[in-house]
Amino acid sequence: MTREITHFINGEHVKGTSGRFSDVFDPNTGEVQARTPLATAEEVARAVKSAEEAQHEWQDVNPQRRARVLFAFKSLVESHMEELAELLSSEHGKVVADSRGDVQRGLEVIEFACGIPHLQKGEYTDSAGPGIDVYSMRQPLGVGAGITPFNFPAMIPMWMFGMAIATGNAFILKPSEKDPSVPMRLAELFIEAGGPKGLLNVVHGDKEAVDAILENETIKAVSFVGSSDIAHYIYSKGTANNKRVQAMGGAKNHGIIMPDADMDQVVKDLVGSAYGSAGERCMALPVAVPVGKDTADELVERMMAEIPKLRIGVSTDKDAHYGPVVSAAHKQKIESYIKMGVDEGADLLADGRGFTLQGHEDGFFVGPTLFDNVTPDMQSYKEEIFGPVLQIVRADDLEEAARLPSEHQYGNGVAIFTRNGLAAREFAAKVNVGMVGINVPIPVPVSYHSFGGWKRSAFGDTNQYGMDGVRFWTKVKTVTQRWPSGDIGDQAFVIPTFQ
Ligand code: NAD
Repeated sequence: MTREITHFINGEHVKGTSGRFSDVFDPNTGEVQARTPLATAEEVARAVKSAEEAQHEWQDVNPQRRARVLFAFKSLVESHMEELAELLSSEHGKVVADSRGDVQRGLEVIEFACGIPHLQKGEYTDSAGPGIDVYSMRQPLGVGAGITPFNFPAMIPMWMFGMAIATGNAFILKPSEKDPSVPMRLAELFIEAGGPKGLLNVVHGDKEAVDAILENETIKAVSFVGSSDIAHYIYSKGTANNKRVQAMGGAKNHGIIMPDADMDQVVKDLVGSAYGSAGERCMALPVAVPVGKDTADELVERMMAEIPKLRIGVSTDKDAHYGPVVSAAHKQKIESYIKMGVDEGADLLADGRGFTLQGHEDGFFVGPTLFDNVTPDMQSYKEEIFGPVLQIVRADDLEEAARLPSEHQYGNGVAIFTRNGLAAREFAAKVNVGMVGINVPIPVPVSYHSFGGWKRSAFGDTNQYGMDGVRFWTKVKTVTQRWPSGDIGDQAFVIPTFQ
């Protein structure tokens, strides 16, 4: 009998009632290991109701106490690191060391959120007028929701609920149906850490549950991370229903390699960031742009020497560099993009199609793939592949190289590798992309800055976590107060000014 995932509503496991399910695979073997229930609108409404009730009390809990719950949660997650990482790998397919990183990067946002007493402080102006003071405070929105992708099932939920709950909101999490177990464990650990029941609910589902979230009047804000078409849909529908929405989408990040770059570092970084996690990272580097023919030729030669050394293995293999991709459908999609690249005339130097791992012939493995002479008009360049595929686009100079990420439909991350500080500085200032790495291949900002791309990589105007996280999950109230000490003068019929 296949294991059945439950929803987590009001601190309890609740069996799905829709009769509709989505399969959870073991990507190493291709077998179905569990099934995720797909919620009805009624089940979503039930979770929202319990969140609303819990939030009424939580909003009055002082920020220091809220921080204590998050602090206890952080310690509990740390003590369950191995269990969480193994569970994550078993459904996602990334290697266990990478899954630890997934949990750890989420925890860093929880650590940041533990500073909420300081972060949520308002502003105060003493004597803005005679006997008049002005102060502003950041109040919670009420109930918020998060809809998350399969590729970071620990980190991205923690980005969202960490900030939402710290600022005094309740939260409904709709995780990816492909790897639902880690989000469920996080919600359980939150209760174990002393979090009130109903404050963090997990409802699984597809478009039906998502639409129910977007139409629910009690939900005031929706945070989304996933592919761009869905992000745009969430943003349009959520804002049309008067919700605050931040919706992060897909990516196609470029790494620009200048002739003066440290090639040893470049090759190491490119191999890790193009093929790590089987390329299923929104901050992966799937496009390399060497500047000048010599740089390009050297890069190709060195990459071709590295690729055979890559070890592709099951997610529990400690020596594997990367594991399988998440599903058979995704493997097929990646392989069809490789075919597209060939049909479009790019040079396929390493072909990951048809890769099989002995003993795991039905696993969803894709070998490392390298294309040279990719051009910007190719469809396989314009679209996100989200697999272990590196495309080399040659450029003659920095100007031509910099135009590529700036003009691409996505604008999540970009990296430049160089020893020239001035060139790097100008590139960072001018490039039309939201997150820039200088000799850093995967520039995911630390938790006290904030994460967000540009163009079709993000809809909405606030980033994830950092101070933008505090802003997104709160609304500002400004109070102007007067405590007159005597006669307050004549009744005023004109707008007061402070001259
Ligand atoms: P996805 O868009 O398929 O799914 C994301 C979420 O949306 C899931 O919870 C899913 O159940 C839900 N969903 C799917 N179809 C829907 C529909 N028709 N209506 C409503 N909801 C729907 O994305 P994915 O495959 O899980 O994740 C990979 C994508 O996420 C890639 O495009 C990747 O670049 C992107 N991503 C972006 C960032 C970022 O911060 N920009 C971070 C991680 C992943």
